Amino acid sequence: MTQKINTAIAGSLPKPAWLAEPEKLWAPWQLQGEALAQAKVDAMRLSVDDQLRAGITVIGDGEQTRQHFVTTFIDSLRGVDFVNRKTVRIRNRYDADVPVVIDRVSRGDSVFVEDAKRLRLLTKGPIKFTLPGPMTMIDTLYDDYYHSREKLAWAFAEILNEEAKELAAAGVDIIQFDEPAFNVFFDEVRDWGVKTLERAAQGLTCKSAVHICYGYGIEANIKWKQSLGDEWRQYEKVFPLLAQSTIDQVSLECQNSRVPMDLIELLRGKDVLVGAIDVATNTIETPEQVADVLRRALKFVEPKHLYGCTNCGMVPLSRAVANAKLQALVAGAEIVSKELG
Ligand code: ZN
Repeated sequence: MTQKINTAIAGSLPKPAWLAEPEKLWAPWQLQGEALAQAKVDAMRLSVDDQLRAGITVIGDGEQTRQHFVTTFIDSLRGVDFVNRKTVRIRNRYDADVPVVIDRVSRGDSVFVEDAKRLRLLTKGPIKFTLPGPMTMIDTLYDDYYHSREKLAWAFAEILNEEAKELAAAGVDIIQFDEPAFNVFFDEVRDWGVKTLERAAQGLTCKSAVHICYGYGIEANIKWKQSLGDEWRQYEKVFPLLAQSTIDQVSLECQNSRVPMDLIELLRGKDVLVGAIDVATNTIETPEQVADVLRRALKFVEPKHLYGCTNCGMVPLSRAVANAKLQALVAGAEIVSKELG
């Protein structure tokens, strides 16, 4: 039997035009009320179908029920004012109007558990569900109550842990926390970032993952990447901490990036989700280009620990482009699987 390299998506997929304006990040919903609720359910089925038809082995919901990967979760928490927003600088890169923490934060009802139950019914294979990580959450808010990034991160970690345990109970196999902020605030990552992430994943009966990327292909991120020089060594600060952590999987950006592949060596023993699809371009990778990234990664990670993945979410792309990229990802993983024999 050939060794099968698993494949997964980082998180989001494009939404149908009847659900949200296509090829736009954080696009508002096109429907309201019950019609919107039903449309989200329908879109999730399509998104799962696209992944299954492409041959992806770990299936996600494509984040079809979320407008934003952080604020849609925060939206349902208590202690946050969504009406009187304030402007903050996100990851030291771009300004955004964000909600304000005005009281102790807590979770009422579960946020994504119904989505997870629906996803569970759509495939018998392994499923992954994404949540924002504590540090990235606090970086997408204005804090007018805790007056401490660390204290607020611990509060969010407890809330995330409640949610994650319910997702695991609903049959989710991997819960991934998105922490692009880990690529920016290295001192905080060392002091409390990894610890709060572990708190969010504490006691889970399923696997845990963390996604650390260089962001969607928006102008602010592209400019930031251009300022990072010939070698992107940000992961070098974070990976040794993650290697010693309880987190099982690490999702990272590799295709068309300047990340030295040997940094993956620092994650020895963990599952590594290697980004082999560039989400910042409409150019479709060839299967050989995907295979090339996976082959280079295999020098530093055992096949059973390697997953072919996307660099980041694909929500800003067209559905046609995203589907073609999914197919390229699977075709590239199959080339490498055959080579492994
Ligand atoms: Zn990402």
